[in-house]
Amino acid sequence: MKNKMQMVLACVLIMFVVVACGQTSSPSVPSSPAAVTAVIVPEVEAEVQADPGASGVGDSYYPGFGNGGYDVTHYTLDIAVTDVSSGKLTAITTIEATATQDLLSFNLDFIGFKIVSITVNDVTADYSRKGQELVITPLKPLLNGQSFTTVVRYTGSPEVMQSVALPVQTGWIIAENRSFVLSEPDGSAGFYPVNDHPLDKATYTFHVTVPEPFEVAANGVLTETLDNGDTTTFTFELRDPMASYLATINIDKFEVEEMESEGGIPIRNYYSSDLPEEARKPFARQGEMLDYFSEIYGQYPFEVYGSMVMNTEFESALENQTLSIYGIDMIDYDDMEGTELTVAHELAHQWFGDSVSVADWSDIWLNEGFATYSEGLWTEHLDGREALDDWVKFQYAEVATYPEYYTSPGKPPTDELFNGGVYVWGGLTLHALRLEIGDEAFFETLKTYFALYKNGNATTDNFIAVAEHVSGKELNEFFDLWLYSEKIPPIPEMGLGVE
Ligand SMILES: [Zn+2]
Repeated sequence: MKNKMQMVLACVLIMFVVVACGQTSSPSVPSSPAAVTAVIVPEVEAEVQADPGASGVGDSYYPGFGNGGYDVTHYTLDIAVTDVSSGKLTAITTIEATATQDLLSFNLDFIGFKIVSITVNDVTADYSRKGQELVITPLKPLLNGQSFTTVVRYTGSPEVMQSVALPVQTGWIIAENRSFVLSEPDGSAGFYPVNDHPLDKATYTFHVTVPEPFEVAANGVLTETLDNGDTTTFTFELRDPMASYLATINIDKFEVEEMESEGGIPIRNYYSSDLPEEARKPFARQGEMLDYFSEIYGQYPFEVYGSMVMNTEFESALENQTLSIYGIDMIDYDDMEGTELTVAHELAHQWFGDSVSVADWSDIWLNEGFATYSEGLWTEHLDGREALDDWVKFQYAEVATYPEYYTSPGKPPTDELFNGGVYVWGGLTLHALRLEIGDEAFFETLKTYFALYKNGNATTDNFIAVAEHVSGKELNEFFDLWLYSEKIPPIPEMGLGVE
């Protein structure tokens, strides 16, 4: 993710106002498990002690995010939008999951809408709602290891949501006569019932029906466009597992541009049909970027890539899986090279953030530091080592000159998760590591880390372990200094921060 804040952090004082959006649920596991007899579960003879699933997945920063007791394998989002400008829709979300404990009930995260019905394995289930927690009690308890299918039917318009982690609107956002979805880290619950934490990745099918002449840009491969007369149904398949916050559905009149990188990676870009032609320029080299990052990090992990640029201001770009999205105000006509770096940033997130996802939101520097350093690496790829060194010096000076905007990357504030520190200081941490262990071990570390954790989750400790293994060096002290110091450490090799 990149937003206007990161672009102007050094010169604008932003007062962070935190508004908790429905985070009213208790993160604790209910303490009095209810006992049920196994008589109602025909396959099992003995008594089953089934508990309610936890209302949070155990995130150290946001204990209410996600849920426990089951693992989702696939979501099918069947959404019919009847009015784009109000977001009025009727929807059916089908969730295929496996119980990871005996479950008397389980939670989904879901905000707003009127629920029409819920079934579990085709049988009507009881449910209750509290804040963002939707508690579903199936007629029969679910057994550990059992696969089950939950179908939630609902109707209404998405609520306006503000994230608990940063002061921006998230979820399904309406911008006059079009809409987009920007959900990091907690907006997805605003348009579909979900186990909303990166730890529970799943594959997705989207069937989105919109009135003519609107079109849909969502994650994955467009497999079908069905003309229903007054409406069109777009089906997208996302066959690689995805963290829930990266699900995106964007509705507008688009011009679609399709091409392929030299290395054969399919690209499809969606531009608002009223977007100025010039706004496309910073996206021209995405093919080269895909091939370059494939070379240094490992092969691009998904079936397709592309960007959606909407002709509306939303002050952000977000690396949704296979489809990064940009507001028109992220295109800086006076600095197209800088804008191209933002494009490189979002694209690099496909490896670090999307394919390798955080296991805990406190480790967000593993996303943003890596994407930011990828901007430096793209600069080096184009203009050589000296250009990278200049980039590093500029970034370092920003942190050193305006320390009030940059907390240490290993511990950003919970109400300001996307603090400048996780970006710039996080990126500089990688450069310092490169100088510490040498180019060969550094790039081998990135490749090994990606190969080990792609399509999954990783922690800072996982990354450190890979760097230590590859380099043969003990690096705990190095990472402690770089990730948790009050003040950015010096880079003596470059004469930076040396008193
Ligand atoms: Zn980012």
